[in-house]
Amino acid sequence: MVERIETESRKLLGRLRDAMAGDDPGQARLDKITHLIADSIGCEVCSIYLFRDEETLELCATEGLNADAVHRTRMRLGEGLVGRVALRRQVVNTADAPSAKGFRFMPETGEEVFSSFLGVPVQRLGEALGVLVVQSKAAREFSADEVYALEVVAMVLAEMTELGAFVGEGSAMGARHSQPSMLRGTVAQEGVAEGHIWLHEPRVVVTNPIADDPHREMERLTEAVEDLRVGVDKMLALAAGDKEQAQVLEAYRMFANSKGWMRRMQEDISNGLSAEAAVEKEQSLARARMGQATDNYLRERLSDLDDLSNRLLRILTGQGADTGAEMPADPILVARNIGPAELLDYGRSLRGIILEAGSVGSHAAIVARALAIPLIVHVDRATLEALNGDHVMVDGEQGIVHLRPDDTVVTAFRDKMAMQAAAVERYASIRDKPAETRCGSVVALHMNAGLMADLPSLVGSGAEGVGLFRTELQFLVRNQMPRRSELSALYARVLDAASGKPVIFRTLDIGSDKVLPYMKPNDEPNPALGWRAIRVGLDKPGVMRMQLQALIRAANGRPLTIMFPFVAQYEEYTRARAEVDKAMDREARLGHVLPSELKVGAMLETPSLAFAPQKFFEEVGFLSIGGNDLKQFFFAADRENERVRRRYDTLNVSFLSFIERIVERCVQTDTPLSFCGEDAGRPVEALCFAAIGLRSLSMRPASIGPVKSLLRRSNLDEVRKVIADARHRGEMNVRPAIMEYLRQQT
Ligand code: PEP
Ligand code: MG
Repeated sequence: MVERIETESRKLLGRLRDAMAGDDPGQARLDKITHLIADSIGCEVCSIYLFRDEETLELCATEGLNADAVHRTRMRLGEGLVGRVALRRQVVNTADAPSAKGFRFMPETGEEVFSSFLGVPVQRLGEALGVLVVQSKAAREFSADEVYALEVVAMVLAEMTELGAFVGEGSAMGARHSQPSMLRGTVAQEGVAEGHIWLHEPRVVVTNPIADDPHREMERLTEAVEDLRVGVDKMLALAAGDKEQAQVLEAYRMFANSKGWMRRMQEDISNGLSAEAAVEKEQSLARARMGQATDNYLRERLSDLDDLSNRLLRILTGQGADTGAEMPADPILVARNIGPAELLDYGRSLRGIILEAGSVGSHAAIVARALAIPLIVHVDRATLEALNGDHVMVDGEQGIVHLRPDDTVVTAFRDKMAMQAAAVERYASIRDKPAETRCGSVVALHMNAGLMADLPSLVGSGAEGVGLFRTELQFLVRNQMPRRSELSALYARVLDAASGKPVIFRTLDIGSDKVLPYMKPNDEPNPALGWRAIRVGLDKPGVMRMQLQALIRAANGRPLTIMFPFVAQYEEYTRARAEVDKAMDREARLGHVLPSELKVGAMLETPSLAFAPQKFFEEVGFLSIGGNDLKQFFFAADRENERVRRRYDTLNVSFLSFIERIVERCVQTDTPLSFCGEDAGRPVEALCFAAIGLRSLSMRPASIGPVKSLLRRSNLDEVRKVIADARHRGEMNVRPAIMEYLRQQT
């Protein structure tokens, strides 16, 4: 019986291939295919529905339903049985369709006479393309073998759709990857860019989904899986000693040796698929399951299987990671996600980056910022929609990607780029001038940094120094803990590059979102409120001591400024400060030259520290407000959670009053105060901070020009009055009043 089904299925695929071989237009091909399937499966009806947009399916061809319904019958995702198959990406198989859950009667198709319904999703690598349906008058449930055969056919249909075999009139049959497409995401690094797509992991294209000779295909699969196993074993040998990497690779090995996986692919081949189509069919099913799995462990394993399938496909198709495609001169990188080290490998060659996953605070985002490359994250479907070489425009102001833009978009976008270039020129002209306001106040503007790649911006931006050097980035972009000598050489190079301008080194801020790849992750329910930054440094002081020594040695007789992150109470600062004193003594005893001047300060990024005893303010060398964290704890709104992050405005009166309170306490005790969170680089926020008394701001280099430009045009006395009046009127947020004031100024 199984043998018979296999032969039937192979026969059907053979006939499908013949139908594809002619140069019929797309519609004629689809019509032929529905006829062939209905005939082979012995059903009165076979229909193909394709997506015309993300939400709507359209009947594109049918054998057995009313021909007039083609391109007229439409349903929304989730609507009716067809919509349900598409939404859930699961087979619906019923002997009594009219009483099945979700059934929707569509008189135009004349379908009420059909009792049995079998619908399978047409999907390629987790992307839903449509639904393939067979129906019959006789009330019967389709057998597992029939369901399976239809899934194999759906797989071939998906491949052919991808290859453009069904291009015809109307949007449901529009050529894929040829229409302009606008995708939205979240800005992780501002800027605008134009270029051509470079896929970090190119799509493997299967051009031969149907095969004649199953024995040959079996051999090809066996050989490829053997190559894959050897490859995984080699990786395992290389990873020896790295426990975590070895664990992941062990999971890979388990899959590569999985009999179940192999058996399913062999069955697919027996049914007429080529070896690569068999791999892709199983990969598609796994991806669909991945999308629905709620269990993290299961999702990770499915993602391992996905990666392994990609490797196997590359072996089979000969389309290695290097597909022979040449990187365009103006590459805009598209990836599901990317690690910081991989991004650094591309370096400054990239014009822009588009990620499907990623997050604003991810390491990749930090590197992109350091390299000043516009980055948009959470761009759904980017890897599905984009093809290598596609023209693309990245609007890192609005978080929009224009893929294959039409002429109107191109013109508007280029105007925008020209305006930006003009602004950059304007900023360059004030680069060496101070941020002095019209009322005579001077605000010191510093830059944030974390990689050597940042340092050239010190000159280019006109920053007075580095107000925040995030030392953890050096730890994050490596595969193992850096040695003290490496660190001290690096910090020395930073000081050299700063050529006398001050640099504030912040000690390691790890934990929370910044997990070192080579440290055991802590399974904490709330990592942002967990064991991070100075808490780790004080509990396990080994790394902190090593870092302090490296800093003292790097200074080598020059001034040194050290800042501790995430200090929540006075006692944490005194203990950390004592570590610095100990390190100084130890270095002196070892005969190293001590810094000519030493300043030790703390970040104020927990509300509790703003209420620390007076003595803390008197003792601490300086304070820097870490607004990113401070704001998330003030409003109890996760800085990484897009849903709640934007809900609370920095110019909300409560938050602004809180900052003002901190300024007052620092003025009373003569404690130098700065603000180094992202808000310092937003011109309107920076203006308000200056108005309430902040005289030092640290921001990403690209923000210095716009902030300076606004400060130089402003009168802080007037801004102060606008804020006071808004408060007096009982407004919750001073932004509207400030914006109105600024509008009147122009
Ligand atoms: C902050 O919290 O504002 C800050 C500057 O530190 P980070 O963004 O590195 O947590
Ligand atoms: Mg912080």
